[in-house]
Amino acid sequence: MEQNKENMMVAALENGSVIDHIPTDKLFTVAQLLQLRDCKEEVVIANNLKSNVMNKKGLLKISGKFFNEEEISQLAVICPNIRLTVIKDYKVVEKREVLLPDTLTNIVKCANPVCITNNEPMKTVFYRKDKDTLKCRYCGKEQKLKDIKLK
Ligand SMILES: [Zn+2]
Repeated sequence: MEQNKENMMVAALENGSVIDHIPTDKLFTVAQLLQLRDCKEEVVIANNLKSNVMNKKGLLKISGKFFNEEEISQLAVICPNIRLTVIKDYKVVEKREVLLPDTLTNIVKCANPVCITNNEPMKTVFYRKDKDTLKCRYCGKEQKLKDIKLK
């Protein structure tokens, strides 16, 4: 039953993306990252929805929006384990769990002020050390996901 309800909400979108399973305390961070305030397309922002897996969750439905891999990686840094559904012509063409990639190129800022990436015009590279820790390729600085600043 729960599954059917979710499918109905998703099906109402003609073309665009649905981000589901957003932690409720991260919903507005995600909305800000995606600059939804300036979005001229149809946007649905829902929070504190009942969820079987997470107690409560947030959800975003954005008409006309299709994410590239860089944007998906940014989302994964802010909230790992969200679900992304892509809709075209009212049909679900892709549905996946967004997981933190093993390598993040130019997504995250290094917290070490003397790191070369903060002093030279270059891309940052971070490796995933474990599920909530990233490690800078250049200076070795480890950072917890919750403290991460996006580049
Ligand atoms: Zn560094």
